[in-house]
Formats: sequence, structure tokens, C-alpha cells
Amino acid sequence: MSNLTQLAPDYIRAIAPYQGGKPIAELAREMGLNEADIVKLASNENPLGISPKAQMAIDEAVHDIARYPDGNSFTLRQAVSEKFGVDYNQIVFGNGSNDILELVARAFLVASDEAIYAQHAFAVYPLVTQAVGAAGVVVPAKNYGHDLDGFLMAITPKTKLIFIANPNNPTGTLIHKNVLRAFIHAVPSHILIVLDEAYDEYLSSENKSEAIAWLSEFENLIISRTFSKAYGLAGLRIGFGLMHADVADILNRVRQPFNVNSIAQAAAVASLADGDFVARSYAANQAGMAQMTQGLSELRLEYIPSHANFVSFKVANAAQVNQQLLQNGVILRPIANYEMPDYLRVSIGLFCENARFLSVLKTILSHNIK
Ligand SMILES: *Cc1c(COP(=O)(O)O)cnc(C)c1O
Repeated sequence: MSNLTQLAPDYIRAIAPYQGGKPIAELAREMGLNEADIVKLASNENPLGISPKAQMAIDEAVHDIARYPDGNSFTLRQAVSEKFGVDYNQIVFGNGSNDILELVARAFLVASDEAIYAQHAFAVYPLVTQAVGAAGVVVPAKNYGHDLDGFLMAITPKTKLIFIANPNNPTGTLIHKNVLRAFIHAVPSHILIVLDEAYDEYLSSENKSEAIAWLSEFENLIISRTFSKAYGLAGLRIGFGLMHADVADILNRVRQPFNVNSIAQAAAVASLADGDFVARSYAANQAGMAQMTQGLSELRLEYIPSHANFVSFKVANAAQVNQQLLQNGVILRPIANYEMPDYLRVSIGLFCENARFLSVLKTILSHNIK
């Protein structure tokens, strides 16, 4: 063993690496399966793929990749500004919305600061906090969701940042917008609040976020959005943050000048113009969620009601069941690293994918009982 890891600071060596969904090709190699026979319901990707308009934009943009991308994403900035009613200087684009989360941590947190997030909240919050040597403060969950009173009580003079995922991944829980607004109001204005709305497109019309309208009132609010989920562009890596222009100015100082590639920019512009694709994705998810939760209920499995495009369910011997699912070509996400070792998270797929998963699971469970 070399001593090279010792060169990294303690807080870096303490980071638990992010565990993503297993790629289809990797499982195929490991199990000797055909890629075509594998169902991946592990990363909350859009089973419908991407908008045909985005596909056309990608095909076109491919011709121009010898050039650097527009470091200011001007055309996309125009499109986002128009769609969401924010000024150009309130928008920061990221290499995925994870990039925005990291930019906030890198630009604002120092080692003596604290960042607050919930137990079972998205794994990237602790990652980006620990990567800059700041202290993460975990607020115990309440019914698997954010305990916002607990957040207020966790605030100390060292608190600089609060992360909230709404809906949260991997629990799918949603904070009602009135409750959220009251919370933001109660947080001292010198503490930044990152509101991660990666799944907003999957919310019903009455639940949809109104937080963008709150930006003028709360200068400490940062909203992050992504093209990875309902827009289907996970592989292109593009997301954005909406915030006060002064906060955006700071993030732009630490941002890599060309952090968003040209194909992603073109695809995102076309995606925003295709409301029909998002509507179809929403409808497919509603139907798939009904199919999935009904199937889980029939198997007498408890699940956490979800507002997103995945659902986490409780199953005895979750790690073993996950392994058996893999052997049968079904990739889910074990969430032991979210302190939920008895749960597995399944993304809502196409009707046939959901059916395949449910049928394999049924077989596994019936064998395990014997
Ligand atoms: C998937 C997800 C994201 C999106 O990450 P990208 O970097 O935009 O792909 C952000 N936040 C949460 C809570 C997520 O589940």
C-alpha cells in the first residue's frame, strides 16, 4: 500500500464515495447477461428517453463540437429566463444540477462553517459539504421527510447553508409549499437555502413549486433544477440554479468557464420548447406509479408514498433481494447508504419494465419464504 492517500486531508479521506446505479453494461459483464434483457430502474431516468426535438437539436449540435461551447450559455439563458420569468443574471448553468450544489458549497463554505441537511436526504449534500472541509449537520427525519422545526433548532452561529430536496430522493417525500415558505421566512437571511427541485416536473399541478416567485422576497434562496429527470438528458449533464444576481455572480467566479457542453445547451433549449414531451412523461409516470404501488401492495410490501418518479419500499433481507434481482437482470438502488438498509428504491419505468420487475420480485419473495 502506498502512503499517497495520507496526502489528502482527513476530511477528504472521510468521504464515503457516491454509489450510483449500476450501469447496464456492467451488470451484463458481471452476470453474463444480454444488455437487452436487463431492466434498469436504478437512477430515476426518464423511461421515455428524450424529446424528439431535443434529439434533432443534438444531431445538429454534434457538427460543431470542434468549437468551445458558449461559456455563458446565451441561447439557453434566454430560454430559461423567458420560461421561468427570471433575469439573465439570476441564472447559473451547471454540469448537471449537482454542479450547482457543488458550486454553492465551494463558493461559500469554509472549514469552520456548518451546512444542515436531513437524514435520508440526497447524498450529494454531505459530499459537497465534506469536500470543502465544512461540517455537515444532519437533522433526523420525521416520517422519512424533512423535519423543518428540527432544522430551525439545528441552526447555530456557524450555520451558513441549508440543503432541502423537495421532493426528496430517495424517499419521495414532499414539503407542502406553505410550510416551506414559512420555513424560509423563519431562517435568518444570512443563511443560504438551497432548494433542490430536481423532480418538480413530476409534481401534480396543485403541488408544483412556486418558489421561483419567492426569489424576489428571499435573497438567500437558491433554487436548483435539472434536465436529467423529466427532460431525460441525464447523460448530457445539465442543470441550472436560479438565485439573487449577487449570489449568481459569486458562483460564476468559481464555475469552470466551459462547464456546460454545447450539445447539452442545444438539447436543453429544444427540450424547454417541447412542453408536450414533459406532459407525456408526467402522464406516463402517474400511470407507472399506480402500477408500481399497486404491485407492491399486492406483494404486501410497505412503501413510502412518493411524489417523484421512484418509490422506496421495505423488504426483508433487502441486500439479498437486491442481489437476486441483479441475477435476474433487474437493477434497483439499495439505499443502505441513506440509513435505509431495509429499503430498496425502484424508479418508475415503462409499463413492461415495471411488470418485469414486479414479476421477478414476486418469484424471489415466494422462493425466499420457503
Ligand atoms: C437526480 C437528482 C438531481 C439531479 O442531478 P443532476 O446532476 O442534475 O443529474 C439533483 N437532486 C436530486 C435530489 C436528485 O435526485
